[in-house]
Amino acid sequence: CGIIARIGRGSAAETLLSGLENLEYRGYDSAGIAVQNGSGVTVHKTSGEVSDLKSSLDGRPHGNMGIGHTRWSTHGPPTDENAHPHTDTAGDVAVVHNGVIDNYDELRADLTAAGHEFESETDTEVIPHLIDEYLQSTDDTERAVRKAVDTLEGSYAIAAIVDGEERVYAARKGSPLVLGLDDEEWYLASDVPAFLDHTDDVIYLEDGDLVVLEPDAYRITDLDGTRIERSVDTVDWDP
Ligand code: GLU
Repeated sequence: CGIIARIGRGSAAETLLSGLENLEYRGYDSAGIAVQNGSGVTVHKTSGEVSDLKSSLDGRPHGNMGIGHTRWSTHGPPTDENAHPHTDTAGDVAVVHNGVIDNYDELRADLTAAGHEFESETDTEVIPHLIDEYLQSTDDTERAVRKAVDTLEGSYAIAAIVDGEERVYAARKGSPLVLGLDDEEWYLASDVPAFLDHTDDVIYLEDGDLVVLEPDAYRITDLDGTRIERSVDTVDWDP
């Protein structure tokens, strides 16, 4: 029920974990993060609370970018396997998702027939497999993500990372997603409290937006790839 993503200099893990704590008010039953560094994408996830996730970590996973999630189960009970992030079979694409994918049954059957191996009972897991499937016919990850998102029916806020790429991909339809802009770090979250300790400059994304965050640039497009400019708001937050 909450998403956080971060890219920038320095370590991502602490920001992801504190971001998840700041989203706890939304309610959840599981938590997880995935970070990316020179040696690949690492996923840490568990049923239970963010404090359980923190105590299950041996130190903090190294990496300057990553995604995090607090889950409110809709498809599959709150188990460790069903916690997000979810990955493709090889573990190269990691995805967090809020919402419900209505056509997951049909997608899962097609992807399974194409050789993808599923590890969870969630609707979400079709997303990393779908991105991976489209990546087999293009080198352009943004294009593969766009095609995957276009295939989904239902509601979603999604953030994804891919092994070997210093980028966070995100999209929304029917679930909230906000971009936070600091001097040297970008954030994505379901709600501003996730990153308010760092910045109050935000862009409220709209349904149909697809975002690519890089360490020193971000771009927003529609699902056809056409560039969209959105204004930056300053949040006046008085909790
Ligand atoms: N439908 C997904 C699941 O059950 C996401 C739930 C959520 O929004 O946290 O895993």
